[in-house]
Amino acid sequence: DEDARIKRIASTIRVIPNFPKPGIMFQDITTLLLDPTAFRDTVDMFVERYRDKRISVVAGVEARGFIFGPPIALAIGAKFVPLRKPKKLPGEVISEEYTLEYGTDTMEMHVGAVQSNDRALVIDDLIATGGTLCAAINLIERVGAEVVECGCVIELTDLKGREKLGNRPLFVLVKGT
Ligand code: AMP
Repeated sequence: DEDARIKRIASTIRVIPNFPKPGIMFQDITTLLLDPTAFRDTVDMFVERYRDKRISVVAGVEARGFIFGPPIALAIGAKFVPLRKPKKLPGEVISEEYTLEYGTDTMEMHVGAVQSNDRALVIDDLIATGGTLCAAINLIERVGAEVVECGCVIELTDLKGREKLGNRPLFVLVKGT
């Protein structure tokens, strides 16, 4: 059942303290990928939620949104659009700057990949402060498309990233602190 699947998924995520810097508890999903049942269940739980929601595009956030996004997109019959770090996409792009703990970063999307009539699902592995997902939402909304929901495997609830998303719904499988 649902609970058993979530428990298995949660148990496969490895937590590595002080990576990439002191004080960060890094949630490592590469160990989830080593368990084909947990990986399959993760994808299935998103597919079951979105298959009847008329999603036309799955936007995946570099880099771990590129692991979970494409199998979800294929299963629900949506296109996949990569949201990338600067200077990776070869065509014309729009960019969105966002703030990190220290400094800023930029996310880019190909012009024309998402259209104003698209209904988007944004996928990443984890939401912490919510800054990354906000940048993704802004890119999609700037071209006039609707973000139906954001989906993450893990939510670090203490950081209150969910509040930053405003009224855009967020669906997560596993909550951590
Ligand atoms: P944020 O913009 O603060 O919500 O951070 C989310 C992004 O940073 C996601 O792309 C995550 O992959 C990554 N990230 C932030 N904190 C962690 C963490 N504790 N463990 C693993 N990834 C993280």
